[in-house]
Amino acid sequence: METSPKNPVSLDILTALCKRRGFIFQSAEIYGGLNGFYDFGHLGVLLKNNLRQAWIRSLDNEKGEIVLMEGALIGPEAMWIASGHVENFHDPMVDCMECKHRFRADQINLDKACSNCGKKNWTEVRNFNMMLKTTIGASESSGSTGYLRPETAQAIFVNFKNVLSTARVKIPFGIAQIGKSFRNEITPRQFLFRMREFEQMEIEWFCKPQDAKEMFEFWRKKRLEFYYSLGISQDKLRLRSHEKDELSHYSSGTDDVEYNFPFGWKELEGIAHRKNFDLTQHSKHSGKDLSVFDESTKTSYVPDVVECSVGSDRLLLTLLFDSYREDTVEGETRNYFAFAPHVAPIKAGFFPLSKQLEEPMHKIYQNVRAVIPHVQFDLSGSIGKRYRRQDEIGTPFCFTYDFESEATQTVTVRERDTTRQHRIAIDQIIPFLQKALQPNTN
Ligand code: ATP
Repeated sequence: METSPKNPVSLDILTALCKRRGFIFQSAEIYGGLNGFYDFGHLGVLLKNNLRQAWIRSLDNEKGEIVLMEGALIGPEAMWIASGHVENFHDPMVDCMECKHRFRADQINLDKACSNCGKKNWTEVRNFNMMLKTTIGASESSGSTGYLRPETAQAIFVNFKNVLSTARVKIPFGIAQIGKSFRNEITPRQFLFRMREFEQMEIEWFCKPQDAKEMFEFWRKKRLEFYYSLGISQDKLRLRSHEKDELSHYSSGTDDVEYNFPFGWKELEGIAHRKNFDLTQHSKHSGKDLSVFDESTKTSYVPDVVECSVGSDRLLLTLLFDSYREDTVEGETRNYFAFAPHVAPIKAGFFPLSKQLEEPMHKIYQNVRAVIPHVQFDLSGSIGKRYRRQDEIGTPFCFTYDFESEATQTVTVRERDTTRQHRIAIDQIIPFLQKALQPNTN
């Protein structure tokens, strides 16, 4: 008897599964691992690439153009002073004087004892700057200070005029970027949720100040639709407005898209009205004019910015949590990822029922592979085992060539979530997959 699928996943199950199936590994594991750093295997890379592509597609909109850029990872100190990060980018830190464990002071109750040693003897709370500093140049004494960027956004702001004068865009428009960011988090944890090196997908949307409120509303709605289009459970997503005391130094209004993780509702994406803070600061510090000219009023102004910023890794973790399922098939427990077909890392499996049928199925597989990348051929083990292998990595379809196939020129296609099978003409496999792999357009 089959049971309806459940999602009993925990952080431990997910971390172990990701390692076992080659999605994600602890970085430098053979040297004991580096806390807050992860490496991605083949399936993790494919999944992340699909999320990146889906994100870029999701930005397209009727209000204005979006252009892409890719900035340097290290920026000069002057830039980070101007942006406010040298002064303000910190978290409150506290140590237990008994066991020397370190905590983020805003994440624990200081009236209670240390969760590590059970004693209560705290240091003063002090601010810890989370930027990773480095020296640029041949020697430490003559080199200049640089910082690994803690967000991708500043590279966009400092290139605002370069983009404006080369990309044939006019306000309102957006500059989008995908790239690594680095934060020396006090307590990296929860797998990909809080890392020290992670990837962000950010869009800075430049608009007239009088339109900013409407644009903020527009992006709030649009960003939520993106998560729905990935198939993430709508009842586990919500928008939450920041309280005044939560706002970052640059923001006059921020909403978070939150997801209900097994460890509670947490931020997945931040949507912030940054006003003209960044462009004004960079203009002041660099001495370069970053205003634009409004033809209709014949005046110059510094545009406002609405920022949407999500971590690719945090999104990937969200998708893994949300898609994990366990059910019973033919008396056995199976687990699978119910990924939407357009984000699934492997799109289809191709199985000959027996070794004798290898050649014709391999030919079909080669033909499909030439049009649809990331499909797999598998000959080893029982068909049931081969299905489970693909289920576990979230492959939506498996095709099997059996003893009827030659006469009927058909194969069976088996769908991952329902395990239902039906026959399909061999020459219909490619059109079937092309249709099924279309992104959802919610
Ligand atoms: P948090 O409150 O969780 O620390 P934040 O408010 O500092 O997040 P932002 O500066 O708004 O985060 O960054 C935008 C997005 O980048 C976040 O919504 C999250 O998806 C991602 N992100 C931020 N810090 C990390 C991190 N340490 N590891 C993984 N992803 C991160």
